[in-house]
Amino acid sequence: MTAAAPPAAAWWRPLPNGQAACDLCPVGCRLREGQAGPCGTRANRGGVMAPLHYGRVAAMALDPVEKKPLHHFHPGRDILSVAAPGCNLHCAFCQNWHLSQAADVPTRPATAEGLAAAARDHGSVGLAFTYSEPLVWYEFVRDAAQAARAAGLKVVLVTNGYLNPGPLAELLPLVDAANIDVKAMDDRFYRRVCKARLQPVLDAVAAFVEAGVHVELTNLVIPGHNDDDAALDRLVDFVAGLGRPVPLHFSAYRPAWRLQAPPTPRATLERALERARRRLDWVYLGNVGGAEGRDSRCPHCAALLVDRSGYRGASRLTPQGACPACGVVQPFVV
Ligand code: SF4
Repeated sequence: MTAAAPPAAAWWRPLPNGQAACDLCPVGCRLREGQAGPCGTRANRGGVMAPLHYGRVAAMALDPVEKKPLHHFHPGRDILSVAAPGCNLHCAFCQNWHLSQAADVPTRPATAEGLAAAARDHGSVGLAFTYSEPLVWYEFVRDAAQAARAAGLKVVLVTNGYLNPGPLAELLPLVDAANIDVKAMDDRFYRRVCKARLQPVLDAVAAFVEAGVHVELTNLVIPGHNDDDAALDRLVDFVAGLGRPVPLHFSAYRPAWRLQAPPTPRATLERALERARRRLDWVYLGNVGGAEGRDSRCPHCAALLVDRSGYRGASRLTPQGACPACGVVQPFVV
């Protein structure tokens, strides 16, 4: 593919003395001439904000949609998954730091239309922006999402939810489904470990839900950091208060990048699962083997709805998304 010419960056303002203010995310950078933002995706070039990775792709793979993870969105289908380098958070435990935090990540050219055509040709249900942070790849995600929609495909974001309300509102009509990381229900954790704040993430989750996007949430459970009962209960309270069923994934942490806490014990994940299931119907475990927290079962009659093995899902839902045993329609997009 040939790289598309980058358009002007969205959501920025010129400042005196050749500086540029970025209004895309809550970090709120003011960049001097030649300076790049800490996200590594935008830079002041001659007093104008430039999107550094427009038309550049660092990773691309055809993944099961379950791997995003999305367990209630077209179960069993594949989705073409793409990423550029960069992220506006700097989580010490980043499991994808080679892509999100490293300098000089190799990229290759891509076009919005080319990615949509590749997704269609591979029989993919759509295009997923994942692995690093898609919200700061904003202009290309917007254009590729439009191309995907024009090709009859679905658009998925796997995101940290750290975007300002204006740009988010502009993007949401192009998004069908999202998995959003809620790293902890603790602003001190966000400030200390991720160099960010909690409230903009919670506001973004609410905005996705309100916009009618299919939403699932992921919490990476890190021993000694966000795994006590009170922390888990605060997260469950938040999910229960979202006003519609939102699947919650507890994911196992493994030591990575700057955080070298021990890996999450299986017992910790099972404790999280057990506590969350007291109030939520749809709770899953990820990054861990075993059957517990893997399949989807009907909350009414306990019939198997989606049978999962590894990242593969086999749906037993009716074409209308109902339980095959009791006939109650379930909160799945099929
Ligand atoms: S998107 Fe990047 S440059 Fe813009 S405010 Fe956020 S971190 Fe700074």
